[in-house]
Amino acid sequence: MPAACSHLDAVTGVKHPRKRECEACVKIGASWVHLRTCQTCGVTLCCDSSPNRHASKHARAERHPVAASAESGERWLYCFVDDAFLEY
Ligand SMILES: [Zn+2]
Ligand SMILES: [Zn+2]
Ligand SMILES: [Zn+2]
Repeated sequence: MPAACSHLDAVTGVKHPRKRECEACVKIGASWVHLRTCQTCGVTLCCDSSPNRHASKHARAERHPVAASAESGERWLYCFVDDAFLEY
C-alpha cells in the first residue's frame, strides 16, 4: 500500500506506547479522550478530541510529523503536516 506522503513513507517500524497514558496530562492532572504515539521520539500524548490536544501541540512544536494511534484495535498512522492517514 503506497503511503500518502513522504513522512508516512519514512516510517519503517511503528512505535507503540510505553504506557497507555498522556505523559503531559499526567503531569498536570488533566484527562484525555484518545492517545497518540509520536513516531519520531516515542512519546504518547492525547488526541485533538482531548481538552489539551498535547499530540498536535507536540507535533508542531517539535516538528515531529507522524503519530500512531495508541488505542488498542486501531492500526493507523497520521501525518500532521499533510493531514494524511495510513492504515497498517
Ligand atoms: Zn507527511
Ligand atoms: Zn494530554
Ligand atoms: Zn515526538
